[in-house]
Amino acid sequence: MKLTQNYKRIVIKIGTSSLLDPLGSLSQEKLLRIVEQCVKVRRLNKEVILVSSGAIASGKEILKSLANRKDLPAKQALAAIGQIRLMQYYSNLFSLFKQPVAQILLTAEDLNDRKRYLNISYTFETLLKEGVIPIVNENDTVAVDEIKIGDNDTLSAKVACAVNSDLLIILSDVEGVYTKDPHLDPSAKLISEIYEIDENLEKSAGPGKGTGGMYTKISSARIVMEAGIPMVLASSEVQEVIIRIIMGEKIGTYFIPKKEHRKRRKHWLLFITKPEGKVYIDEGAVEAIIKKGKSLLPVGIKKVEGNFSNGDVVSICDINGEEIGRGISNYSSFELNRIIGKTREEIVELGNFIYEEAIHRDNLVLKESEKINQ
Ligand code: GLU
Repeated sequence: MKLTQNYKRIVIKIGTSSLLDPLGSLSQEKLLRIVEQCVKVRRLNKEVILVSSGAIASGKEILKSLANRKDLPAKQALAAIGQIRLMQYYSNLFSLFKQPVAQILLTAEDLNDRKRYLNISYTFETLLKEGVIPIVNENDTVAVDEIKIGDNDTLSAKVACAVNSDLLIILSDVEGVYTKDPHLDPSAKLISEIYEIDENLEKSAGPGKGTGGMYTKISSARIVMEAGIPMVLASSEVQEVIIRIIMGEKIGTYFIPKKEHRKRRKHWLLFITKPEGKVYIDEGAVEAIIKKGKSLLPVGIKKVEGNFSNGDVVSICDINGEEIGRGISNYSSFELNRIIGKTREEIVELGNFIYEEAIHRDNLVLKESEKINQ
C-alpha cells in the first residue's frame, strides 16, 4: 500500500532512552536532533505535538540523593526537578530556530473527564493554530496511582485522539515490532505493517507493563487505531526518521487502522450515548451542518431543552423536533440559553463565552453521516 499521506497534524513521542547519553545524562545532541526535525516538519506547514519523557531521568542528574529511590514521593520530587530542566533545554533549542513551544502536563483525570478533555483539546487547537509546538508530559508530580496514565506511550496515544491527529509516531530504542524477540532469536523479522492487533501480537509483546516496554506500544496502537489514527513505531536512531516517515518512507512498523474504526467512534456518539438535552436549530443551521459540514453556531439555535453541562452529549433537532444528529456541547444549557440566536459579535460583548461554536464539527455526528462522508 502507499503510505504517503497528507499528514497535517502529527503527534511525536520520544522516550527517555532516546534522550540520554551513555552516562544517563540528558543528551543535548539527541535533543537537538529531535528539535531540528520537529522544526523541519513545522516548515512543511504541518502541526506538531511533541510528547517527551525524560523528566525523572533529568531530575536524577540534578539531585543524586534521590536518584536511587523507587518510592513515589521521590519519583514525584525528581519529576518536579527534572521537568523544568527538560523544558529549559527544549525551550533553548527551539528558540535557536525561533520556534515557540508550550508545556502541557496532563494526568489521566484530565483526559477521562469530558469537560476537561474538551478544554484541553481547545487549548491544543489554539496553540497549533498559532504555530506553537506543545510539549507534553504526564504531570508526574501530582499523579498518584489512581490518576496516573503511567507511561508516555499511552499518554501520546490519548493525546493523538484528543487532538484528532493524523498520525502518531512513537520513537524508541527498538526498530519496530518483530515476529519474535530479536535478542533471543536471530531469525526474528521486523513486521512492517500491522492491520489488526490480535491476541498473539499482544502476547508476543510480553506481559511487562513497565514504561517503555513493547506492551505499552502495542496497547497505544490499539487506542489510536480504534480512533482511525495510524501509528508508526520506529527507532529514534534512524537518521531524519521523523521527516522520512512523514514523506512516506517505510521505516519501522506501521499500524494501519481500518476505515470503519472511525465510524465506530461516531457510532458511539450517535447510538451509545444518552443525550442530556436537545437543541432545536433553524433551517440555515441545518443546511450549514449537513450540506457544508460546518460546526453548529449559537446563532442557529432556536431552543434548548434539558439541563446539561458543557461536555455533555446533546441531541440536535430540526425545528420540527426531528433528530438530525448528536454532538458534545461546548456550553451548558444555562450558558446556551444566554447566547442562542446571537451573533458572534453579540456573544463577545457578553464576555466569558470563549467558544465560537456551540458544538464543534469534530464533536458532531449526523444521522445521515454517510452522505457527507464524515
Ligand atoms: N513521565 C516520565 C518522565 O518524563 C516518563 C514516563 C515514560 O517514559 O513513559 O520522566
